[in-house]
Amino acid sequence: MRATVVLFDIDGTLVSCGGAGRRAMELAFLELFGRDDVFDFPFGGGTDRAIARKALENGGRPTSDVDIDRFLDVYLRHLSPTLATSEKYAVLPGVHELLDALEGHVAIGLGTGNVERGARAKLARGGIDGRFSFGGFGCDHEERARLLEAGAVRGAKKLGVARGECRIVVVGDTPRDVQAAHAIDAECIAVATGAAPIEVLRDTGASIVAGDLLAPAVLAAIV
Ligand SMILES: [Mg+2]
Repeated sequence: MRATVVLFDIDGTLVSCGGAGRRAMELAFLELFGRDDVFDFPFGGGTDRAIARKALENGGRPTSDVDIDRFLDVYLRHLSPTLATSEKYAVLPGVHELLDALEGHVAIGLGTGNVERGARAKLARGGIDGRFSFGGFGCDHEERARLLEAGAVRGAKKLGVARGECRIVVVGDTPRDVQAAHAIDAECIAVATGAAPIEVLRDTGASIVAGDLLAPAVLAAIV
């Protein structure tokens, strides 16, 4: 088997946070600027820095890197409590089974728009943080394809092979995951446990489209 790096998206793919991420964004904006009505857009497939930028723009605030960093620091402070109290938080179907089956065969990493601290907090609530030793994160880049590439490079290093020698498989739940995967010449498995309906995912050109990660086709496509 060719050296393989698998990069998992988080929200809608590994876990559902039951709105905790969005709530933490709103609380951060409320704390900093006294309003929380700037998030009237879908977060799915976005990156933390892009979401922060759009919210700041909507609120008529400056959007320099420093402004975005400051906003995300406050967001991260709110994220732990919103996660801890989220009643609908869930590790999605098939996640444990797939990770168990992949262990020891591929490099298992993350490819997520979450900044790393937020990513780790979201996974820790479900007890699966320790399954991912590396990744590409929202703090690596605002653009999804660029952060996936960062994860691919780290995964290749983990396997001790050149990035160009590796097969990269992205697992995600939105058309943006598929587009970003294709932009770095990765394969993409799209799973309909997040915001996008399965018919929409079927139109993306993903290698595999599945209802959830329990589908045997998912594991078969990776190993
Ligand atoms: Mg997602």
